[in-house]
Amino acid sequence: MALKIRKEILNLGVYKAGKPISEVKRELGLDDVIKLASNENPFGCSQKAKDALRGIVDESYMYPDAGNFQLKSNIAEELNVRHEQVFCSTGSDALIKVICNTFIEEGDESIMAEITFPRYEASVKLMGGKCIKVPMKNNGLDIEEMVNCINEKTKIIWFCNPNNPTGTTFNKSEFNKVLSKIPDHVLIVMDEAYIEYVTSENFPDSLDYISDYPNMITLRTFSKAYGLASLRVGYGIASEELVGYFNRVIGPFDVNLYAQTAAALAIKDNEFLQMVYDKNKEGKEYLYNEFDSMGLEYAVSDANFVFVNVETDTVQLFDNLLKRGVIIRPGHLLGTPEWIRVSIGTMEQNKRFIKELKDIL
Ligand code: PMP
Repeated sequence: MALKIRKEILNLGVYKAGKPISEVKRELGLDDVIKLASNENPFGCSQKAKDALRGIVDESYMYPDAGNFQLKSNIAEELNVRHEQVFCSTGSDALIKVICNTFIEEGDESIMAEITFPRYEASVKLMGGKCIKVPMKNNGLDIEEMVNCINEKTKIIWFCNPNNPTGTTFNKSEFNKVLSKIPDHVLIVMDEAYIEYVTSENFPDSLDYISDYPNMITLRTFSKAYGLASLRVGYGIASEELVGYFNRVIGPFDVNLYAQTAAALAIKDNEFLQMVYDKNKEGKEYLYNEFDSMGLEYAVSDANFVFVNVETDTVQLFDNLLKRGVIIRPGHLLGTPEWIRVSIGTMEQNKRFIKELKDIL
């Protein structure tokens, strides 16, 4: 081919997302398939958001509000930050790329946990950056060691809290200990995609720190607890100055009308969020009990998924579960050959997963 593809693209692997239900039904000829592979919310989304969506179809011919005014206002009000501190795009996936576009130049270093959300690595590499991956400590982030890896070339340190795929969190005292050691030329990204599910006490909510650390950014999403994954909307909180730079990279109409409308209402529906939190906690405890009775080791999770050691080749297990209509995230896609990540579903889905897992193991 005469066209020259950038070497960063040639070196990048293709990201394998969770198989959609329709694909499994089509390929395996199954009627009844459940997906516990992408940490979606099986309880759907706020009724208020659903009702509003029906009413705006006729506005589809127009571009959405480029400033995301109502959405940003509601986020700012709900989280007690200033409107100017909020930035939005098509999922926090897109925001991770925006951050790397803004900060990473060829040869820059970026620090992340060895087992964490894979889009950090892809987005850093896309810009010609180098990833320093720090081994896990008891399935959690070794934040002390991560901070020890900082040098003058370090541009970004990624803290995924709760961490995907392990579900683990670090606490306030661990965080306070390392924070003062992070120099201010390093951007601290706090990815809190699952914060609404956190059950642990002493969790360090990054919004409590952000005004003291102008080099810190919070990333959150409407794809998980808010149940709007398909609409693709994520947001970040940062200093007004940083938001100004990010807004040079983010496209004016990235967040569509449906996403803006639904998310603006979803963030205000605390009753829905509480229901989701309670049901998730109940499902998590059910899974823990079942894993305990099966003698399977798991990581204690603050998210809507559990990382569990199935002590077998997970490629095979994944295929076997798939044939029985259950999609999970296998270890070979996570870099953990004997561990799988299973999203917490409705109780009916959790029971079905456990039944099939017991049958196979
Ligand atoms: N961060 C983490 C830790 C995630 O697990 C995910 C989704 N799996 C994302 C960010 C991206 O979510 P979205 O693009 O749907 O907002």
